[in-house]
Amino acid sequence: MTYGLLALVADSSAAMGAQDLFVQGSYLVASILFILGLRSLTRPADARLGMQQAALGMLFAVVGTLLNHEIITYQWIIIGLVIGAAAGYPMAMKIEMTAMPQFIAFSHAFGAIAATLVGIVEYRHAYAPGAEGLTPGLTGGTAAALGFEVLFGALTVTGSFMAFGKLQELITGRPITFRGQNALNLLLMAVAFGCLTMLVLHPETAWAFYAMVGLALFLGVSMVLPIGGGDMPVVVSLLNSYAGLAAAATGFAIGNNVLIIAGALEGAGGFILSMMMSKAMNRSFGNVIFGAFGATPASSAKKVGEARESKTITPEDAALQLAYAGSVVIIPGYGMAVAQAQHVCRELHELIQKQGGDVKYAIHPVAGRMPGHLNVILSEAGIDYGALLTDVDDANRVLNTADIAVIIGANDIVNPDAEDDKGSPLYGMPIFRPWTARTVYVIKRGKGTGFSGVENPLFFKDNTLMLYGDAKGVLGNLIKEIKALDEGH
Ligand code: NDP
Repeated sequence: MTYGLLALVADSSAAMGAQDLFVQGSYLVASILFILGLRSLTRPADARLGMQQAALGMLFAVVGTLLNHEIITYQWIIIGLVIGAAAGYPMAMKIEMTAMPQFIAFSHAFGAIAATLVGIVEYRHAYAPGAEGLTPGLTGGTAAALGFEVLFGALTVTGSFMAFGKLQELITGRPITFRGQNALNLLLMAVAFGCLTMLVLHPETAWAFYAMVGLALFLGVSMVLPIGGGDMPVVVSLLNSYAGLAAAATGFAIGNNVLIIAGALEGAGGFILSMMMSKAMNRSFGNVIFGAFGATPASSAKKVGEARESKTITPEDAALQLAYAGSVVIIPGYGMAVAQAQHVCRELHELIQKQGGDVKYAIHPVAGRMPGHLNVILSEAGIDYGALLTDVDDANRVLNTADIAVIIGANDIVNPDAEDDKGSPLYGMPIFRPWTARTVYVIKRGKGTGFSGVENPLFFKDNTLMLYGDAKGVLGNLIKEIKALDEGH
């Protein structure tokens, strides 16, 4: 919305009256609040405060922009506000936590559309085709800022819609690849940057400007096509970074300080997050972007569906063991988020504690489908941060002496092939080693694979026992059985 509003204000370098001073002051407060918000978001306990600080910052930015004396009419702003609020509020209220990555991709696309349109309008404003010469002010520097803005903005628009489509399963989540794809993308990117250079040297070259927009729109699609649905959160975070760069460029183009600061923060934050996510999966950034991860490799595909049977355990027997366990480590994964089983999990945790057992949670950095996914849902259920083991090595040390490891809807993060099978797409990813505990319970609905699409040999180990069913239902049964045991005494 801020991008849209800012489209209606012109260069702020005009003499600064009291109103301008107020506007710049609110931009300064907004920028400080954005930085404080990011700082708070680095600590899970302060994350909620961080969001509130950032939201308050956005309020200052919007109010400051609305008070800009160069706004000619509020009519279109009000229409935009009403449409945006009517569409955004119900979407944000109804969205499931597990659908958050696609929701973020969807909203990035709209932010990027706004940034791209601002860039196109500003360029047309400065240089309408057929007009005599350039409006004073469209220097090479401004043309560079506008070019950068539409290049990254347009790429983010189609890239984000593609990411949304893959995550929402409107299109296949599998990588779509063809021969020479990476070379073609690199060539198109080189041509787009060539157009940008042309624009900087000769700002009046309108064809270079529009060719760049077209190429960027195409590149957004072609660069996301070969990336698997599971890698989309990394891509969404990278596109977030591009949207930030586009916003910062908009700030330079229209002389708006808060857009420069917020855009730079978003650009850097998105990029760092993408790198951290790749690192946590033990994959190079290049492998995520160009590696077509998610296409099941031949060696691993062979194993899926092999006639091996896992051992199962009944909820009654599992409850008996849990009730008398001295130490239990719970390893939650994506399936726990799907089942929304965090509240029943806390109930089970409390029951085991009541029986005298110690309960810890091993939280893998890439568990779930977005960074901090499991931390967020466990926190929502009121589980104390002190019970979380977030370092893989620390968690493995605790697992080594644990009586029972309970895996709830996790798969890839406990796959021993990550250590043992060089052909596995997971090879090299740091994983939890639940099989070192005395007994392992695995709660999952059936024989479904994790996001990597490969079989998990853990499920066939001697000390692994399966508890098949939806995580919420199975945990509910365990609670019922432990309570029955308690009452029986
Ligand atoms: P996985 O996707 O590996 O496994 C989830 C398991 O949950 C499935 O095997 C599924 O089996 C089970 N499941 C699904 N629904 C339910 C349910 N309702 N009740 C019980 N079980 C259920 O999840 P992990 O968390 O172990 O691993 C995350 C993966 O995502 C990693 O490979 C990681 O690299 C990747 N990733 C994570 C990102 C992040 O930021 N966190 C970003 C990008 C990728 P079944 O169908 O049989 O029930």
